[in-house]
Amino acid sequence: MRFSQLFSRTLKEIPSEADTVSHQLLLRAGMIQQVAAGVYSYLPLGWRVLKKIEQIIREEMDMAGGQELMLPSLQPFELWERSGRYPAFGKTLFTITDRREHTLVLGPTHEEVITDLVARFVQSYRDLPLLLYQIQNKFRDEPRPRGGLLRVREFIMKDLYSFHVDEADLDRTYEEMIQAYRKVYTRCGLPAVMVEADSGAIGGKESHEFMLIASTGEDGIVHCADCSYAANLEKAESSKPKFEKKPPMPLEEIPTPNIKTIEEVANFVGVPANQTLKAVFYSADDELVFVVIRGDLEVNETKLRNLLKCAELRLATEAEVNAAGLVAGAASPVGLKGLKIVADDSITLGSNFVAGANKPDTHLKGVNYPRDFEVNVIADIATARAEDGCPRCSGNLFSSFGIEVGHVFKLGTFLSEKLGATFLDKDGVSRPIIMGTYGIGLGRLLAAAVEQNHDDKGIIWPMSIAPYQVYLCPLRLENPKVLKSAQKVYQQLMKKNVEVLFDDRDDSPGVKFNDADLLGIPLRLTISPRTLESGSVELKWRKEKKTELVPLEEITSLVHRLIRNAIKHSPD
Ligand SMILES: [Zn+2]
Repeated sequence: MRFSQLFSRTLKEIPSEADTVSHQLLLRAGMIQQVAAGVYSYLPLGWRVLKKIEQIIREEMDMAGGQELMLPSLQPFELWERSGRYPAFGKTLFTITDRREHTLVLGPTHEEVITDLVARFVQSYRDLPLLLYQIQNKFRDEPRPRGGLLRVREFIMKDLYSFHVDEADLDRTYEEMIQAYRKVYTRCGLPAVMVEADSGAIGGKESHEFMLIASTGEDGIVHCADCSYAANLEKAESSKPKFEKKPPMPLEEIPTPNIKTIEEVANFVGVPANQTLKAVFYSADDELVFVVIRGDLEVNETKLRNLLKCAELRLATEAEVNAAGLVAGAASPVGLKGLKIVADDSITLGSNFVAGANKPDTHLKGVNYPRDFEVNVIADIATARAEDGCPRCSGNLFSSFGIEVGHVFKLGTFLSEKLGATFLDKDGVSRPIIMGTYGIGLGRLLAAAVEQNHDDKGIIWPMSIAPYQVYLCPLRLENPKVLKSAQKVYQQLMKKNVEVLFDDRDDSPGVKFNDADLLGIPLRLTISPRTLESGSVELKWRKEKKTELVPLEEITSLVHRLIRNAIKHSPD
């Protein structure tokens, strides 16, 4: 491709609307263009990257036994009524009304459509298992589109759905899909970490996410230094510090004038935060819930939502708290009546706590569970902390941030039951099909690749997904020798099927080198009057500083070999 003809324009300045590194660099490199909030066009350079990612994913899905098909973006709303999932999606679901006043959904995902399709085809156990996938646009009305391609309203996704006669068969496919996903990321040159993920309140027993570790990631992750445990913070457990149980002391009221927060209470009474009990009030589907947790820990709202199996969970308003007769700042489970009380299991890992007294400016000392209060539910609802131990071994946890670039999920039977997707087993008994679902957002993976692979000059693409493999950069094109050599190298490389962006523009070396760095093409070849003095081409890797001179007659075969090795030796 000749740069002079390329539909693109590089920008020197950082566009003001760009809020993440990948957003800035993809805009500056002329790879994407925003059309509306969370809606983007891919320009030719960006589209080439996307197509390469797509092809790697397609090959690995085919290898794992997937069959590609194509489902429509327009879905009857009736399918979502039958599955019962539309309240969970809420306003994220794009809906439209057609001329006959029928409501249609712009597909945010395709479990409903494909389960309905499979229900019409599968009759007996002989028709299973099935692995069906597509690579297609999805629509989600995100409340806050951000980060360029990281959180958008229209995006391209690979979604594979698997259908099985029993759990063992689903487990087998789930493992195979995990291996296929690992291969996808390795081949893209993007090492991803697999973490345990939240599988939500509705059905589903197991779920994992693949994360690219990046300081700009919006998902918190904890990993164990000693074993393979890794989890999204939404789901992560930890070994909470335990404190020696002392003989229970009698309950004692203490005046605590204007003392409200846990920190203030702990300081005032002279105990560590882990010897206090914290009360937090939530509204779960409009029911007020009293949550009690040890004072050094925080409530994990994902765990709480799953425990309560509610659709909407939010902190209760001051008015709701007052209406229930609670004393904010001094609320207590002790003596509380008529409210659902949910406790974190940390209340059992200590004794003689300081808690509120349900009276203004008053707390209680010597609070012990279960002597002094009862709860309706007790479970782990705390946010894991890196300083706590690994829940699986005695190792230390450490935390990092990641960008989710894939999700695999054992769905089970709740959708097939709702949508009537059944099969006859060997004994002729009708049973619901067991399902799994496996997604990768392609644009997100592309953006995450940039978040993970860049420097202050621009993008550094891994070879396997780079828009072009070689940036051919002749300097002083007015010099006929330079022009002739550059054209010759260009033709020779193209004959070898090397993907070359030929910078045939009449620009200064500074402009050309800056664009080469910004676009992030892995190999740069510079031809100038100076390199031609020794009959050479200067070769430079984008990710390295050093350059080397290579004789003109050797450059084609060397480049060919370097590219082959770079793609073959993707990091694991
Ligand atoms: Zn561990």
